[in-house]
Amino acid sequence: MQEADLKDVAIIGGSFAGLTAALQLGRASRKVAVFDTGRPRNAASPAAHGVPGWDGRAPGDILSAIRGDLAAYPTVSVHDRAVTGLSGEADAFRLTTAAGEVMARRVILACGVTDRLPDIPGLAEGWGTWALHCPYCHGYEIKGQPLSILGRGPMALHMARMLRTDWSQDVSLIAHEGDLGPDADAETAALGVSLHRSPLIRAEPRKGGARLTLADGTVLQTAGLFLHADTAFAAPFVADLGLATLAGPTGPYLKTGAFNVTGRAGIFAAGDIIRPAGIVTPALADGAITGTAAHQSLIWPDRFPPIMET
Ligand SMILES: Cc1cc2nc3c(=O)[nH]c(=O)nc-3n(C[C@H](O)[C@H](O)[C@H](O)COP(=O)(O)OP(=O)(O)OC[C@H]3O[C@@H](n4cnc5c(N)ncnc54)[C@H](O)[C@@H]3O)c2cc1C
Repeated sequence: MQEADLKDVAIIGGSFAGLTAALQLGRASRKVAVFDTGRPRNAASPAAHGVPGWDGRAPGDILSAIRGDLAAYPTVSVHDRAVTGLSGEADAFRLTTAAGEVMARRVILACGVTDRLPDIPGLAEGWGTWALHCPYCHGYEIKGQPLSILGRGPMALHMARMLRTDWSQDVSLIAHEGDLGPDADAETAALGVSLHRSPLIRAEPRKGGARLTLADGTVLQTAGLFLHADTAFAAPFVADLGLATLAGPTGPYLKTGAFNVTGRAGIFAAGDIIRPAGIVTPALADGAITGTAAHQSLIWPDRFPPIMET
């Protein structure tokens, strides 16, 4: 490996968080390699909402624009390629890719999480259009219409209160699986939310939403079915790095400290991989924080100690 090949920072995941980190590093003229497999978490969605300046634009358009910005910085390269392994230590990390190994002094994990939907016929096809994860992202467009929730645990009541309070007076909660908690009957009655204690067996797209069939034969028309899907790290090798994780409501995420340091010196993390709330703007902010921190750690290595993992 030639010294010239050593990158200052390798960024794994070139979406909202990773590309933003690259922008900061490029503006410091640092040698950066971004690796990306082209599957941002909201890839299935035709529009990303709540992103200032980009509200309602297609996720791919936003990411293409950021990639376009990066083209102005000759020290930044973006590679449409997966990273399959990471070893080594600060100043000498070794990334495994299909096109060979890459050495880097610092690493930013920005490779996100994936959603694992319950196995219900029709649901996956609707993900991002009428099967939805977040009312802030997609609720405004369907406000005032019949909305439903696929109940998979106590978080469903949280969603029911949100939707009923500010998005629609017609909300149904389907007790699909898991325990909704002891207050489910009383709370839904008080909210004016219809509670269906029968699992969803089929979802079929209809104009402006979907038709939901429950095991007891009930049929519901909905403009949006909200659910909390289970999440997992998108890059399998992340789970093998020995980094501390925290349990989120849908799955694990990486534990980080100030400036998004992890428990291993020289490895930073950004975006959905470090926070349970899946929204683009925190991922962009994380990218900026992490890109500048990774840069300054090259100048002052002692100022960014790893967190104590527990
Ligand atoms: C259906 C849906 C709709 C959404 N809509 C909205 C919305 O309207 N507004 C909003 O604010 N938020 C929305 N979100 C949330 C938003 O998608 C995430 O918060 C955001 O994408 C997180 O950005 P990120 O950069 O952390 O990760 P991601 O965008 O998930 O990007 C991770 C990147 O890493 C790449 N990658 C993974 N593994 C590897 C590997 N081994 N090697 C190289 N690259 C790898 C992936 O291909 C991907 O490009 C939505 C989420 C979902 C599920």
